[in-house]
Amino acid sequence: MFQKILIANRGEIACRIIRTARRMGIATVAVYSDADAGALHVTMADEAVHIGASPVGESYLRGDRIVEAAIGTGAEAIHPGYGFLSENPDFVDRVTAAGLVFIGPSAASIRAMGLKDAAKRLMEKAGVPVVPGYHGEAQEIVVLASKAREIGYPVLIKARAGGGGKGMRRVDDPDRFADELAAARREAKAAFGDDQVLVEKYVEKPRHIEIQIFGDNHGGAVHLFERDCSAQRRHQKVIEEAPAPAMTPEMRKAMTDAAVKAAKAIGYSGAGTIEFIVDASQGLRPDRFWFMEMNTRLQVEHPVTEMVTGLDLVEWQLRVAAGEKLPKSQKEIALSGHAFEARIYAEDASKGFLPAIGTLYHLRFPDRAEGGTVRIETGVREDDAISPYYDPMIAKLVVHAADREAALGALADALDHTRIAGSVTNTSFLAALARDPDFAAGNIDTGLIGRKQDELTRTRPPDAAAKALAALAVASADGRRGKSADPWSSLTGYAHFHPMSRRASLQYGEETVDARVTARGGGRFEVEVGGAAFAFAADAVSNRAALWPGHVTVFDGVSSYSFSAPDPLAREADAGAGAASLRAPMPGLVKIVRAATGDAVKKGQPLLVLEAMKMEHTIAAPHDGIVAEIASEGAQVTDGTVLVRFREDERV
Ligand code: ADP
Repeated sequence: MFQKILIANRGEIACRIIRTARRMGIATVAVYSDADAGALHVTMADEAVHIGASPVGESYLRGDRIVEAAIGTGAEAIHPGYGFLSENPDFVDRVTAAGLVFIGPSAASIRAMGLKDAAKRLMEKAGVPVVPGYHGEAQEIVVLASKAREIGYPVLIKARAGGGGKGMRRVDDPDRFADELAAARREAKAAFGDDQVLVEKYVEKPRHIEIQIFGDNHGGAVHLFERDCSAQRRHQKVIEEAPAPAMTPEMRKAMTDAAVKAAKAIGYSGAGTIEFIVDASQGLRPDRFWFMEMNTRLQVEHPVTEMVTGLDLVEWQLRVAAGEKLPKSQKEIALSGHAFEARIYAEDASKGFLPAIGTLYHLRFPDRAEGGTVRIETGVREDDAISPYYDPMIAKLVVHAADREAALGALADALDHTRIAGSVTNTSFLAALARDPDFAAGNIDTGLIGRKQDELTRTRPPDAAAKALAALAVASADGRRGKSADPWSSLTGYAHFHPMSRRASLQYGEETVDARVTARGGGRFEVEVGGAAFAFAADAVSNRAALWPGHVTVFDGVSSYSFSAPDPLAREADAGAGAASLRAPMPGLVKIVRAATGDAVKKGQPLLVLEAMKMEHTIAAPHDGIVAEIASEGAQVTDGTVLVRFREDERV
């Protein structure tokens, strides 16, 4: 076994790999970019090497620097995780040429499966069912259009180099074929630098079922059952599960046999996934599934397989890469219970799943759930930022229970108890999906989320009780100093002697909320808002609300509401009137600049507009002064970046 490995990745997957390596007594080396200098994976690893600037092209995709880092630290092998360089055969060549081991398949296997058209031809030869369609070399429009007619509409045009659903177009009407082909080519060219396409039958109401396979360097190949990833939005997975709902023994045998055959056809070594598309319009039928593509790496959703098999897939990867045989034979691998994984993202589901960024000022995951066990895979801690540079995934929430119904209940419960403030997240949407009657009935296809999008992403406004709790949190914060100070001291201290009232004013979107908060003594509070009064115990705020700069978020079962509120700490700085500079309160984009160097500005005058978390925030002058320096329009800033500097001597 290896003594030391380097992990050429970041975030949750880097942390995940480090955990298994540590358990096996293997030392770990992390790599990191500027933006990740203090990231969790860096602090978890035994050693860490800085490999460049924040954009991925200057760091996590720099195969040369990564190999150098491995050699420099004496690592013997490189684990690529998923994404980044994990399916890049040139990187594999570079790693092996340097005398290191790539923890994954051979460059030849990756090349064989790299392009969808060649992979399909290869699979057809190996006797694996592929979607009816044209995967040939010819690219003339007349050829493709006549193939489309032969296949029968609707058809799907796909970029052969495609990934992440890009360069993919459904065509229902032969008259639209030429236009859609041109669009698919443009998209493919832009995304992959390759505009070759294939045309296949569009499977209506399809399910996405994939088989986890494993091969070793001794000719061994096994499967670890299936995962159902039919819950997708715009061809991207949202919730994955194992086993697949309504799976039958015949269907499972047919699919796993085909997957193992595919792995053997290319002499595959390591973890891989064979993705199939299934026509489930008449239930799961062994003659109604087709090969889509093979992912030659560990999948994001591998934990659901680990939960139902009790196996550690990263351990298997390390063993196989070190030359060992597969740890178990097919007969020794069994299924137990049901698992779900939900991908928690910083994104605004109600705005078409717009990706978001922000500092995760409050980040709490449940450690157990009603009826099942919970496992959290994350690469961030409270106060870490989701930056614009990388995938905005915050965590994967994985649950396991005895059966599907129990596991789904546990998933919904765990999502309700996931509390994140500082960025918008998709947790309410995921919880709504977990409670959707069709999803619960296993009645899913890849179009389910699209059809029900409005219903699943609908947000209702906060009720008076939620507003009251937000007001209480703000009033309590007025007396607090810093994050660790007791927010209650100011109110409860007075309350020993006489009731004390405070006004609190906050904003929810366009709406202003005015409230009166009264300490009643004995840790009880009353809040009047909109003519109604609400009573709270002292722990209501710490249990169900989170304060963060300029905001308070209230968690109300499946929903959460973020109010903006004057920041007591900012006010304090304001009162001092001496701040020589203004810093960005959160990462974002400088959208508009309204002042220039040398300008004399008045207190409260808007200086610039920062776009962050898909909202515009006006940054105003905290005091009169003269601008010495100001950020430029279009600049990407992280929180803490100085936006405006004032001339020291001219401060008033
Ligand atoms: P990518 O590599 O871009 O992710 P895939 O080939 O893996 O593309 O397909 C992604 C998703 O697109 C699938 O999970 C499925 O939802 C949908 N899809 C792919 N092929 C078809 C098809 N022939 N008919 C209907 N939907 C399809």
